[in-house]
Amino acid sequence: MIEKNGYIRDLFRQPLGAPVAALGWVKTRRDSKGVHFIQLNDGSCFQDLQVVVEAGAIPEATLLHATTGACLRVSGELIASPGAGQAVELKAREIHVYGPADPATYPLQKKGHSMEFLREIAHLRTRSNTFGAVFRVRNALSFAIHKFFQERGFIWVHAPIISGSDAEGAGRMFQVTTLDLMNVPRQGGQIDYTQDFFGKSTNLTVSGQLEAEIFALAFSNVYTFGPTFRAENSNTPRHLAEFWMIEPEMAFCDLDGNRKLAEAFLKDIIAHVLDHCRPDLEFFNKRIDPTVLETLEHVAASSFEHVTYTEAVRLLEKARDQGRAWEFPVFWGADLQSEHERYLTEEVFRKPVVVTDYPKEIKAFYMRLNEDERTVRAMDVLAPRIGEIIGGSQREERHDVLLSKIRAQGLREQDYWWYLELRKYGTAPHAGFGLGLERMMMYLTGMKNIRDVIPFPRTPGSAEF
Ligand code: ATP
Ligand code: MN
Repeated sequence: MIEKNGYIRDLFRQPLGAPVAALGWVKTRRDSKGVHFIQLNDGSCFQDLQVVVEAGAIPEATLLHATTGACLRVSGELIASPGAGQAVELKAREIHVYGPADPATYPLQKKGHSMEFLREIAHLRTRSNTFGAVFRVRNALSFAIHKFFQERGFIWVHAPIISGSDAEGAGRMFQVTTLDLMNVPRQGGQIDYTQDFFGKSTNLTVSGQLEAEIFALAFSNVYTFGPTFRAENSNTPRHLAEFWMIEPEMAFCDLDGNRKLAEAFLKDIIAHVLDHCRPDLEFFNKRIDPTVLETLEHVAASSFEHVTYTEAVRLLEKARDQGRAWEFPVFWGADLQSEHERYLTEEVFRKPVVVTDYPKEIKAFYMRLNEDERTVRAMDVLAPRIGEIIGGSQREERHDVLLSKIRAQGLREQDYWWYLELRKYGTAPHAGFGLGLERMMMYLTGMKNIRDVIPFPRTPGSAEF
């Protein structure tokens, strides 16, 4: 059995003089006048454990292999640290090297690596300060999300990843097929999907919303939390081909309730991460973006701004009339672009803004039509630096209105048969939203590229690891 004292995180709380064993990977090593200082980290916390090796304490042959990147077990005694930066350190009596890492070739050296380079070594970047912090925050965030919903009685729904419904239309889809691509069966000039694995054409899901609606109309309050896929060929720092989405769906809820839940949700998960990942957030604040902590504390404590789309357009037009040059023209009916969203959150309100009641033409068919018959009960939550972080709506629960919207948009009625039946049998007002987990991660950490907040990013032209 491997003898151990638990995580390095817990060693810091042991009494001085306690005999302990620490297991982890060497982050850095410094040699000075016969004394060696080894920073050991096991991923359990931001802080490294400083191991001190006094002259003659450990055989040279062992020390030779205790270099950056090596995996070690160090046993010894906890002593008060005279150095700055840590209260205690581990005085080594014995070192076992599980796995050396040749300093001549180990790719993760002490400093100066670009995020792009670190992406190329995704199997090792996990041991860096930055990615240690990123993935601890991602874990805490995921837990906070479940906690928020579970404490409110929401049921977690596992929406399917392979989707047979053509009804989603949130973006370009990845096709799922076992057909022989060298010899695709055809029938009357078309691909014959009856010979495919499922007997029909299928895709990776772009959203679990429609399935969540089914569950909300039986369990009242539900949420999905899982991977979603979009084959959008947009190489932006905010888009992934595979990303995680959280989609709560609530029966007996209107747009106001939806907006309030979204606000409570964002504040709650921010507060949780502030509470549980301080040292990681302090690192981001120091090294990645100096506004991170201030912004998060501000957001957790203040109330979100709420404007209608119509008011938002008025603000953007006013800015234009005062000399602001928009790359994309602003007029009632135009979709808000990233530059507009960022202007509203970063310059006008300086906090998250919920924009509601968009023109029906630029939003999905399932959003509930307002009494003005020109706008729908849609909402986007916009955040500084990120733009859209949440998209949601009150859903159209009236069978006839939904049917006429499906027809008006030229969609095929038969594809939505079960979605329409939900409105035929026991319909109820309901609403929900979707939060992109990685967008939230960018917001929490200040990381500039979405590829650096997911373990193994999938983007156009890239699916390494
Ligand atoms: P955007 O306009 O930013 O592309 P969207 O309108 O396509 O977003 P929705 O379909 O409303 O977004 O999806 C819900 C949420 O999922 C978004 O608010 C965002 O947080 C996230 N999201 C959407 N597309 C992506 C993507 N390609 N990569 C990562 N997150 C995404
Ligand atoms: Mn999109």
